[in-house]
Amino acid sequence: MLTETAAAIGSIKAAFDIAKGVQALQTTTDVKQAISDMLDQLLSARLQAVEAAESEAKLQAEIESLRNTLATMKAWEEEAAKYALKEVAQGTYAFQRTEFEDPRVWLCPNCFDDRRKSVLQTELISAGRMTMLQCKRCDFEIVTDGHRPRLDSLPQPRRR
Ligand SMILES: [Zn+2]
Repeated sequence: MLTETAAAIGSIKAAFDIAKGVQALQTTTDVKQAISDMLDQLLSARLQAVEAAESEAKLQAEIESLRNTLATMKAWEEEAAKYALKEVAQGTYAFQRTEFEDPRVWLCPNCFDDRRKSVLQTELISAGRMTMLQCKRCDFEIVTDGHRPRLDSLPQPRRR
């Protein structure tokens, strides 16, 4: 039970107890005071009930948000179970579906760890001297054919 709900119930009970005691009162002043006390308790109960409703609405929103997060996580787990880490090039791995579908694609392992599917794209470097797969999302690269040109083999700027 919410704290605000318990407080509201306590205030209503206090007002009820005051009402039960009114019959035993002897003077008009005592009756008026009891009615005033009852109204104070009922007003307090009303405010606490409003606070309880606000707390409940906040909790409902949190529950809905957690349900959505859980559904997203479950959906990812189901999707991720369809993929396995496989060797793309010697010693280099990426994710691929365990049951092939067309087109056969490789998924970036970095993005996969972030619960995202990012298809590795083929890039030709240095006029076909090197082929690599590249993730456009995080720049992860895998050289699949050829090798990276060494820095000293690249054309140097001309000196005057
Ligand atoms: Zn990536």
